[in-house]
Parts: sequence; C-alpha cells; structure tokens
Amino acid sequence: MKSIVVANWKMNPATFKEAKKLFEATRKAAESAKNVAIVVAPPAIFLRELSVGYKGKRLSFAVQNAHYEAGGAFTGEVSMSEARDAKCSSVIIGHAERRGMGESNEDTRKKVAVALAIGLTPVLCVGERTRSQSGEHFEFVREQLVAGFADVPPAKIPRVVIAYEPVWAIGAERPMNARDMHEMAIFIRKTIVDRYGQGGMNLKILYGGSIDESNAGEMMRNGDVNGLLVGRVSTDAAKFTALVSVLDAL
Ligand code: PEP
Repeated sequence: MKSIVVANWKMNPATFKEAKKLFEATRKAAESAKNVAIVVAPPAIFLRELSVGYKGKRLSFAVQNAHYEAGGAFTGEVSMSEARDAKCSSVIIGHAERRGMGESNEDTRKKVAVALAIGLTPVLCVGERTRSQSGEHFEFVREQLVAGFADVPPAKIPRVVIAYEPVWAIGAERPMNARDMHEMAIFIRKTIVDRYGQGGMNLKILYGGSIDESNAGEMMRNGDVNGLLVGRVSTDAAKFTALVSVLDAL
C-alpha cells in the first residue's frame, strides 16, 4: 500500500510566486514517487490557483482548516464546500496549532461529520501536549478520538484518517520514538473499535512531528503507521524531495 504524506505548509510561503515554485518541486517529487500519495495543504488563499492548474493524478489537495457551518457570517473562515469547490479532497481537522487557538473537541466532532457528509476525507489530528510516566496522555488522546468520531456513521469510520501528533514533538529536534508510536497506533485502533466498532481496525494512521528524510524510514517501518504529516520539511523543496524518495524506496 502507498505511504501517505500530508504536506502542511501552514502559513507559508509569503508570496504566490514562491508557492508556485514550491508546488512545482512538490509536483515533481510526486510524479517520480509511485509508492507515495502526497496530499498538499497550502494556505487557503493559494489553494484554488494551484489545484486548478494541476492536471496530474499523483497528488491531491487538502485545506488546513474549514468551518463546520455551510455558510454565513463567519468572517475569515472557509467552508468545507468552498474547499471542495477549490478541488480539495481532504481537510485537516484539529491541528495542534488550531487547538492552541481555541478549537475544541466539540468543534472537531462537528467538522469530521460535515467533512464526511460532503465527501471530503477528514484528517483528524490528535495528540497530547506533554507526557508523564503515569500515562495520562492515553486518556487525553482517547477523549480527542471519542469526540472526533462521535457523529461518524459506522460505515464511514475507515474513511477518517488519524494524524497522531504529540504536541511536544511538533517543531522539535527529533520525532517520537517509533516503538512508542507503535504502542499509540494500537491504542488508537483499540479505542475506536471498543467504542465504535470493527471499522476502527481499518483506520489509516499517520504520525506527525519533526519528520525528515533521516527518521522517516524508521517511523514507517516500526511505527505501525500508514504515513506522515509533515510541517517544516514540506516547505523546503530539497528536503521534501529527499523525504519522498525515502518513502518511495521503502
Ligand atoms: C505539524 O505541525 O503538524 C508538524 C508535523 O510540524 P513539523 O514537521 O515541523 O514538526
């Protein structure tokens, strides 16, 4: 099965000219990597122009965030149908940075349900802020998962992609240990199966947090994940290309 890479550009780059250049490098990386499915999440203001100009099939688009309401008085927001109309096939929901700006589990619950209802793939981000020996982080992640899946019809459970991103490993020096990711992947599936049924066994799970070409192979081999969500490296054309070739060669 193909490895998935979500390239979360966040609020980068500063100009559309640079975005086009970065997209061109991302497109080339995608075209030469048969075994990798790349999902690009540019800033919303650049999205449509990049997506309508792309004629290939190797790459798809995600919006970094979208509102659960269909439209109305929500200044500064983008709706899921607007994202779909701009040729997005996925939406990132509950990224740690959005949660840090006030997005709640209740918001993610509504967003996941709306995304599925209109045919977008929700990439639901979960992850604890800190870890301690007592294992409280499992309960924290469980609550995020239970909320995010609360309104998902059983048949659609396998269509949700989970991005486990421990906040302490985002923008850090190194990622989480792959063995710990493996343990978390088992926990995530078990949580969904126990609460929402067998569809949880077929969930796709991504890891995110300080991934680059030097550590991606180890995470993919031993972390029990289907792919990676990448921040910084996704906006550096050379590093991203190197990362994609590591995944392609697995
Ligand atoms: C992220 O913000 O989701 C992320 C994974 O960032 P980075 O790769 O820069 O740690």
